[in-house]
Amino acid sequence: MDFLPIFMQLTDRPCLVVGGGKVAARKVSLLRKAGGAVRVVAPALCEELDELARETAIDHVARRFEDTDIDGQMLVIAATDDEQVNRRVSELAGARGIPVNVVDSPELCGFIMPSIIDRSPIQIAVSTGGASPVLARLLRARIESFIPAAYGRLAALVESFRGRVREHLPDGEQRRRFWERMLDGPVTELFLSGREGTAREVLEKALVQGGDARDVGGEVFLVGAGPGDPDLLTFRALRLMQLADVVVYDNLVSPAILELVRRDAEMIYAGKKRNQHTLPQEKINELLVRLAKEGKRVLRLKGGDPFIFGRGGEEIDSLMQEGIPFQVVPGITAAAGCAAFSGIPLTHRDYSQSLVFATGHLKDGSVDLNWNMLAQPRQTVVFYMGLQGLPVICREMMAHGRSADTPAALVEQGTTQNQRVFVGTLGSLHELVERHQVQPPTLVIVGEVVALHERLKWFEPSTRHMASSLFADRSV
Ligand code: SAH
Repeated sequence: MDFLPIFMQLTDRPCLVVGGGKVAARKVSLLRKAGGAVRVVAPALCEELDELARETAIDHVARRFEDTDIDGQMLVIAATDDEQVNRRVSELAGARGIPVNVVDSPELCGFIMPSIIDRSPIQIAVSTGGASPVLARLLRARIESFIPAAYGRLAALVESFRGRVREHLPDGEQRRRFWERMLDGPVTELFLSGREGTAREVLEKALVQGGDARDVGGEVFLVGAGPGDPDLLTFRALRLMQLADVVVYDNLVSPAILELVRRDAEMIYAGKKRNQHTLPQEKINELLVRLAKEGKRVLRLKGGDPFIFGRGGEEIDSLMQEGIPFQVVPGITAAAGCAAFSGIPLTHRDYSQSLVFATGHLKDGSVDLNWNMLAQPRQTVVFYMGLQGLPVICREMMAHGRSADTPAALVEQGTTQNQRVFVGTLGSLHELVERHQVQPPTLVIVGEVVALHERLKWFEPSTRHMASSLFADRSV
């Protein structure tokens, strides 16, 4: 270990920054955030620093550095572009045992500044010991994405309970176990999903019961997994996927996404298997309730967004009735994913001012939709589950006023490496299905915006293996 990471109390302590440029401005800003009483010695201040000086209390000494500036300082940073000055500052501070940092000169540093992930009061500092600040920043970005922004507030919640917990649980070991159970259990997720009140209640209840959290029970995460590409998951989805005890997933969740679920989680497939029926919706609802009642953290993973043709509403309705805690995590819906990855903007100032998502699912051989509304001009219509009913859809759209040459597209396995896009018109679309053997999952997009595909397409999926699917099942 070349450096010892420590966290320094700076509130109202004298800190010196030598230099008035942009780099100095960043350091001053940090020191101010930590509450330091900052003095800046520099003949002139850059615009940024000048602005900072107007916003916050900074003591600007407008001249060149003098040796006595070091006196009485608790921490010193040299950020001038004059190497001699930087060296002098470093020597003087070093001789007096004052921690000193010289920007971009590790050999002159008594301490180095880490990259910081700030979730006050939590601070995570990343350092490569000066080897590569860029690498430290990249690492920082990764960690940023894994630590939810609300973690800071969670720490504050814990802090606010500390006195009470000490009262109820005098034994240190008992307290440690209590917090472990609470924070590795329901409290963290309740809090992070925006239910601070309930998180407090759970803590209260467990405290009153002498620190026992066993009957807190399970919970359900209803999570949208997006259209297929794992990179399109939300941070929250990924975090919950790695937390779940059991996963109930659909046929539209790609194997690449299932790969990211916690290794030892139990996997339950609730979609349609070849030659078998789908688990009926009521059975799925019951299953979620039962698993949660067993105290498990249940991840209900759905393709796209759970509230867009995902029956998410029905599933949480039964959870609600049973009083089971749950949260809903939105996902990128197929329309958004397929639009982006096919270069078909769904709205456009010149061509389309409104957008409708409709189901193309056939009921008794007909599609029961408000065709007059769907066939409005200057509107984009996206049909989910529209492949089977495509002839009916195209026919009705034309019968209700859309011309046969209205541009229309099929996006098959959108966002994945198997994506195929076929562009035609309302009049020609069903021929394309046959000619190219288009299979589900496929999205149908109707409207003038489809014509933009030729100009705006950008995504280049890798060579497709014919008839292969990245989804568990293709019968949807
Ligand atoms: N809840 C999902 C939709 C479920 S309905 C969402 O928000 O995306 C299933 C239909 O979604 C499929 O029949 C197909 O029309 C569409 N779909 C889902 N994923 C798709 C994908 N990757 N490419 C094309 N269409 C997709």
